[in-house]
Amino acid sequence: MIQQPGASGLIFNESLVWEKSRKGRCAMSLPKPDVEKSPLDADLIGDAPNLPELSELDVVRHYTRLSQWNFGVDSGMYPLGSCTMKYNPKTNEVQAGRQGFAGAHPLAGDEFSQGALALMYQLEQSLARITGFQAVTLQPAAGAHGELCGMLMIHAFHAKNGRQRAKIIIPDTAHGTNPASATLCGYESVNIKSGPEGILDPQTVAAVMDEDTAGIMVTNPNTLGLFESNIKEIADIVHAKGGLVYGDGANMNAIMGIVKPGEIGIDVLHLNLHKTFSTPHGGGGPGSGPVAVGKTLEPFLPVPRVVKELDTYRFITDRPDSIGRIHTFYGHFGIMVRAYAYILSMGAKGLTDASRLAVLNANYIKESLKGTLNLPYDRPSMHECVFNDEFQKEYHITTMDMAKRLLDYGFHPPTVYFPLVVEGAFMVEPTETESKEDIDQFIRAVKSIAQEAKDNPEQLKKAPRLTKVTRLDEVLAARKPCLRG
Ligand SMILES: *Cc1c(COP(=O)(O)O)cnc(C)c1O
Repeated sequence: MIQQPGASGLIFNESLVWEKSRKGRCAMSLPKPDVEKSPLDADLIGDAPNLPELSELDVVRHYTRLSQWNFGVDSGMYPLGSCTMKYNPKTNEVQAGRQGFAGAHPLAGDEFSQGALALMYQLEQSLARITGFQAVTLQPAAGAHGELCGMLMIHAFHAKNGRQRAKIIIPDTAHGTNPASATLCGYESVNIKSGPEGILDPQTVAAVMDEDTAGIMVTNPNTLGLFESNIKEIADIVHAKGGLVYGDGANMNAIMGIVKPGEIGIDVLHLNLHKTFSTPHGGGGPGSGPVAVGKTLEPFLPVPRVVKELDTYRFITDRPDSIGRIHTFYGHFGIMVRAYAYILSMGAKGLTDASRLAVLNANYIKESLKGTLNLPYDRPSMHECVFNDEFQKEYHITTMDMAKRLLDYGFHPPTVYFPLVVEGAFMVEPTETESKEDIDQFIRAVKSIAQEAKDNPEQLKKAPRLTKVTRLDEVLAARKPCLRG
């Protein structure tokens, strides 16, 4: 029997705070003043802001109910491919909330911020060690921002060498943000196709690489969840023509302690601390996308840089080749604390085990479901596996129908219709933190949905049926968004 959490519990239809508001209702009681009344200056008195008036209990219930409509990793499995929705240990939150960190002011001098600077310095060192690079900047605010930072450094590198280049090679298995970042730097993307095995063929790169091409952006593991095993050969081809290799390392969760990107020909790589290094995400931020570089690009890193002199740390800005600042102050410090706490509490072995388990879990799902859903690239996967709806076509059931129905079974759907190389993609990334029982429950749910596709396709087209809001008109929602009640 499959549990259907969406079907249980009290379901209130919650109105807006404005609708609940009653004139004169108040959520606090102030003590009687024990000083004389003193009139305010006339220019300080205006119309009171129009705010809802509610009691404390009204406010508590309202927000508690709204929070229960939400879905997060803390409520159930969230196998959203490419997003690494792993469980984030609560100790990381506790460390980030410590007064010394949470209350640190970015304008306090270096001498008053030694703990924060030491943490940033040591986190950079740890990330450099994990990725096999020379140096790291923590400034970028997210993965795509890290890409922009890396591309700006590649741009600065070519400018310094006296000849700017016009193009960047981007394969069809790269993340969607890659061409956007290249375009923001003024580069034209040259799109190339991956080979029949779902990875890049060095010959395809050699055919387009020329001296007007600044480099290549490779997502590795790629968006099909496959390892680009020709990466070293590809890097040699690009380097031979004076280009550089950008590595999108947002999928580092598959290879920590196993592969060091800095040792396989990559010149610059970003990480997503809010994916691999344990920060809750999915609500739009804040995130952190550190960028790691080798010797070639080190001079171009953003300023300020944290340096250690004897036992003290300080920021330096005097770096003539730097691309400058790409964020106010130093980046998202709270995320750095979480990542540092995560790395220290896991240790080298723990991080390696996390990657091994993430890969094992994805392969377990791939093998368990490959007779149920079509698997276009049947190869050992890394942290995620990509199916599609080919087997369900005869019943006119699509990936979208199956994803919606998963909500009724209490699971967040996987990523759908991405990557674009797979038509009707259904991309599952379980992460290392799911137990075998939860993964088995997910597998049973998908199998049961595939059975419904045969037995009762009309009902499946109406899914989800047990959630608060059922099937939405997505076209209408995109064309005519209704942003208030
Ligand atoms: C998530 C992701 C990105 C973008 O990261 P953001 O933090 O969302 O900007 C880039 N590349 C890959 C492979 C990703 O998975």
